[in-house]
Amino acid sequence: MFKQKTVFSLEVFPPKKTSPTAAILPTLEQLQSINPDFISVTLGAGGTDHYNGTVSVADLIQNQLHIPAVAHVPGLYQTKQQVLDLLDKLSSINIENVLALRGDRIPDKQPAGDFNHANELVAFIKQNRPNFSIASACYPNCHTEAVDFVDDIGNLKRKVDAGVDHLITQLFFDNQAFYDFKEKTEIAGINVPIEAGIMPCTNRNQIARITQISGVPLPKKFRAIMDRYQDNKEAMRDAGIAFAVDQIIDLVSQGVDGIHLYSMNHAGIARQIWEETHSVIEA
Ligand code: FAD
Repeated sequence: MFKQKTVFSLEVFPPKKTSPTAAILPTLEQLQSINPDFISVTLGAGGTDHYNGTVSVADLIQNQLHIPAVAHVPGLYQTKQQVLDLLDKLSSINIENVLALRGDRIPDKQPAGDFNHANELVAFIKQNRPNFSIASACYPNCHTEAVDFVDDIGNLKRKVDAGVDHLITQLFFDNQAFYDFKEKTEIAGINVPIEAGIMPCTNRNQIARITQISGVPLPKKFRAIMDRYQDNKEAMRDAGIAFAVDQIIDLVSQGVDGIHLYSMNHAGIARQIWEETHSVIEA
């Protein structure tokens, strides 16, 4: 999936259980014009099971829009048999790219017990369905549950060695954190491509929710934007987009392997960011 030039990918989440899968089609059609290298589809992200249809949405992306789809596969609440069934369902619609994850915890729900960490899921997929290309997650600001960075990088190395083909980072707002993290991965001998996850934060509630779930720190520069523009929707949107564009241009000029835009179904925002960065990304 990785080519010589910088990869550009997007992430969407499926419609809520109460909506039909097709509700996402207008969003996907808008994203299609960006022609991303792939679009990934979440499953149970944010510790909620209010969403379904990951496979159906991935099917629309891959087979109707003809853009490579990556299905997120969190292991925590799935048995080995459920994972195999999901992979086989994906294979039957020509999707053999997955993002293997431990998964966000769902309050009060008991884990299935077969996969406690993503490395176990990666090894299981590699062993049982070797035709799949496996991506996984990593954390430039350190995962919130890790003892420390040394522990987190050690766990990441174990996960990559289990069969990961490429990594996608958690969102971050400070590029220096990414460069420091990249150096740590190189020292640890982690040599797979690492895509940088960028989230355009265009409203205060969204930022509060995201930073609470992910534990990602907000740099001073970003807090100043929020403090000044939080009550002005248009200004906050423009400033959030400009911040993301600035991050992307810096990352691409420093040779990042790829940009994964957490566009979260805001096709207009993704399009605007693409328009302002694609000449840099494609150069
Ligand atoms: P792991 O790699 O298992 O790491 C989790 C923690 O355990 C880390 O602290 C790590 O250091 C430690 N650890 C890892 N392996 C071991 C081990 N063998 N023994 C002891 N400790 C270990 N969640 C969803 O539910 N659905 C989604 O669709 C989704 N999409 C995501 C997409 C991206 C790009 C990212 C970055 C995250 C996504 N998440 C999603 C969230 C993710 O599930 C959480 O961040 C989760 O807390 C960790 O997942 P992981 O796969 O990185 O876990």
